[in-house]
Amino acid sequence: MTLRIVVGLAMTAIALAIAVRRVRWLYRVAISGQPAPERVAAAKENIGRDLRIQLSEVFGQRKLLKWSVPGLAHFFVFWAFVILLTVYIEAYGSLFSKKFHIPFIGHFAVLGFGQDSIALAALAGLIVFAVIRIRNSPKRLDRRSRFAGSHLRGAWLILFMIFNVIWTMFLFRGSSVNSGDFPYGNAAYMSHLAAKALHPLGRGVNSDLETTAVLLHIAVMLIFLVVVVNSKHLHIFIAPLNVLFSRRPNGLGPLEPMRSNGAVLDFEEADPDTDVFGRGKIEDFTWKGFLDFGTCTECGRCQSQCPAWNTGKPLSPKMVILDLRDHALAKAPYLLAGSEEERNALPDTVKAEASRPLVGTEAENGVIDPDVIWSCTTCGACVNECPVDIEHIDHIMDMRRYQVLIESKFPTEAATLLKNLENKGNPWGMGEMARVEWMEGLDFEVPVVDGKIGDDVEYLFWVGCAGALDDRAKKTTKAVAELLHIAGVKFAVLGPMEACSGDPARRMGNEFLFSMLAQQNIETLNEAGVRKIVASCPHCFNSLANEYPQFGGSYEVIHHTQLLARLLSEGRLTPVAPVAERITYHDPCYLGRHNRVYTPPREIMAGVPGIQAHEMHRCRERSFCCGAGGARMWMEERIGKRINSERIEEALSTDPDTVSTACPFCLVMLGDAIEEKKSSGAAKKSLEIVDVAQLLMRSVKQPGASQADGPSADGDGGPAADGDGSPSVIG
Ligand code: SF4
Ligand code: SF4
Repeated sequence: MTLRIVVGLAMTAIALAIAVRRVRWLYRVAISGQPAPERVAAAKENIGRDLRIQLSEVFGQRKLLKWSVPGLAHFFVFWAFVILLTVYIEAYGSLFSKKFHIPFIGHFAVLGFGQDSIALAALAGLIVFAVIRIRNSPKRLDRRSRFAGSHLRGAWLILFMIFNVIWTMFLFRGSSVNSGDFPYGNAAYMSHLAAKALHPLGRGVNSDLETTAVLLHIAVMLIFLVVVVNSKHLHIFIAPLNVLFSRRPNGLGPLEPMRSNGAVLDFEEADPDTDVFGRGKIEDFTWKGFLDFGTCTECGRCQSQCPAWNTGKPLSPKMVILDLRDHALAKAPYLLAGSEEERNALPDTVKAEASRPLVGTEAENGVIDPDVIWSCTTCGACVNECPVDIEHIDHIMDMRRYQVLIESKFPTEAATLLKNLENKGNPWGMGEMARVEWMEGLDFEVPVVDGKIGDDVEYLFWVGCAGALDDRAKKTTKAVAELLHIAGVKFAVLGPMEACSGDPARRMGNEFLFSMLAQQNIETLNEAGVRKIVASCPHCFNSLANEYPQFGGSYEVIHHTQLLARLLSEGRLTPVAPVAERITYHDPCYLGRHNRVYTPPREIMAGVPGIQAHEMHRCRERSFCCGAGGARMWMEERIGKRINSERIEEALSTDPDTVSTACPFCLVMLGDAIEEKKSSGAAKKSLEIVDVAQLLMRSVKQPGASQADGPSADGDGGPAADGDGSPSVIG
């Protein structure tokens, strides 16, 4: 056995032993979390579809390619990792025989060309990464850099290691060309270029150099392996696993039910001594949670899109994941200790880490500050952006659940919300008969379900608390009802029988209250025989469509923009009166990102003559939250800039006459911001915010029809568009 074989194999054995030890330890840490059998079952069940997702997300780098330049750079580096494995097969083979080639394909020009080209592309990628990191250095740009808070030294080390892989590869290949051992012809153009540079050294030196280079090339890879399993770049290996076990279709839409010890928590049977209520300790997270923490690449894409972070709040979704990861790793010896004795023998630093509250203020030495979890609007921008499918919202909501259900700790002003939901079934604490007051002034009767829904009724119109009780949102409700009436759609409402869908209770963390409201509504809907629902609030829409099935309530649910767009396309609504205005549309998070409804509201606007639509910079899946989600609508926004103000400033940059949206929460939040901007002179006095249903109503409205959409005394209703008075509706 020659020295090169001995050295090569010895290095490999040592590095593999170190790496395997670390991987086993990481595995034990991960499985010290709660079980998640539902993820394993779902992965098994959907293996075919998951394979497609793996192909598109991991091999196609789908999410990363949305960030064109860094995405492309990452694409090349990723594929270099895959393709250059063949060079490592050749390197190990050459330890045994300098003339080694991969059986069958080892002389293919296309492989030699591909290896050289991807290495070159990866080198270009490294330069791009280096430039991006220098330009986005958090020291210079502070919070605005997506790398703020990331471990930058580790990232530079990885870039340096990849660079070492590439130059040692060309040294190995160039010298083996000169020694006559290289398996490829001129197609491996870079290797031949390296050979040209090394040629003057002579054949003997090149032969020795080939041995040194192949050992160096292997050594770099082995050091890289050890570094990777000990660093954030672990994601190179575990990202495919994280994608495989992630929620389908993604971590958006419904919240997961509360689970304890691998089963859905039944509040009636739950035992506070043995059951887990949300996440109160790091070990309360499931192994999938631990996998999430370990997979974070610290790229900061989530942070850069987070409305809380971008308005100066302490919440960064990236830092939440990193803080949980760092805490889990620091507490790991405690979690893995087999007995009380072993735990007592641990170093004081580990014991101190183990005693930290998961959620607590700086004075309490908490891992996550309460202001962090309560700043989240559950807008979904982080989950949508994350290239490795980390489920930030679930983790934040689970921590809220523990705070609310076990610790009774939450922003004080939200106590009124919870009390009103519990006692009156709506956030404002109004009487149930107030739910029908929006119908006043309509020139037709809206059937209110009393017992069974009529056979001729196609849709149950879910009005929602805001739609029934908030003055601004009531205009949308009226417009939707009028449009359905005009189009000849038979619908009915629950009126006083409708209770809050429970969205704010669930997002507050009060799963118990949510389950009560959901069960109450499901009972009402089932008793009425409801099958199809049209909802005008995206939060209700999300709960009814995606969360009620968790409680046995399955209905066909659509949002009013989807139904109205369909009625337009079928010719059952015909807009005729022009609405000659510049309008920018704000995508509500729970309609857009959470439920992927982007086109129908735009189709409605496109169907109204005269509208000049101008998109904001952040639109569709990159839309910026209004600040109301996650029950934030009922909490004070004490830290940083107001999110609704930030969003309206962006809307103002399009110089709109009107801002449109499709959510009563957005209507309220952005309406408030508009009023503020008007009083400071930053917005024109005529600027208004309306639902797209109101815009459509203005165009189809006939003279003498109900004035659901007319100007209001408080000035926030807009002028009706001029019409030619001709009948505009085909029933
Ligand atoms: S859901 Fe929205 S507000 Fe919450 S952490 Fe993610 S991006 Fe930030
Ligand atoms: S959570 Fe995802 S998006 Fe955020 S920094 Fe980590 S990998 Fe990047």
